[in-house]
Amino acid sequence: MSRLLMLVVLVAFLGACAPKAFTPATEVLYEGELAGDYASSERVVEEVLAVRDCMGLTERPFPLPTIRALSGGDGVQCGDFVARGCYIGGVIIVPNNVEIDVIAHEAVHHYLFLDTGNPDPEHKSEWFLKCGGSVKAE
Ligand SMILES: [Zn+2]
Repeated sequence: MSRLLMLVVLVAFLGACAPKAFTPATEVLYEGELAGDYASSERVVEEVLAVRDCMGLTERPFPLPTIRALSGGDGVQCGDFVARGCYIGGVIIVPNNVEIDVIAHEAVHHYLFLDTGNPDPEHKSEWFLKCGGSVKAE
């Protein structure tokens, strides 16, 4: 491996792991059924169902999560820290206009919770890598 390529890999690695401060969004724009009436609902529902299918749970009668979309920042308060998104008690909580991959990640938590009773906050499940999009979220 060339020195330049190693440098690029190192920078990419550090970039991915560097702590980034998000501003918590606080104003609730929408809260309720995932299939409800808000701007991005169709795309969000499509993504959540794609995650369900990806995890091999297509035939299971699991409900969709509900969603809370907030404005005023690029993160959301998840307990005692701020992240790009979180899944708490059946609700996906995200800032408005969040990347669809964050939705996919939180959907993995949702279906793990319904399938196993554990939403896997430690991200030990292989499903995060296989079906949860390319972002690292909480
Ligand atoms: Zn997570």
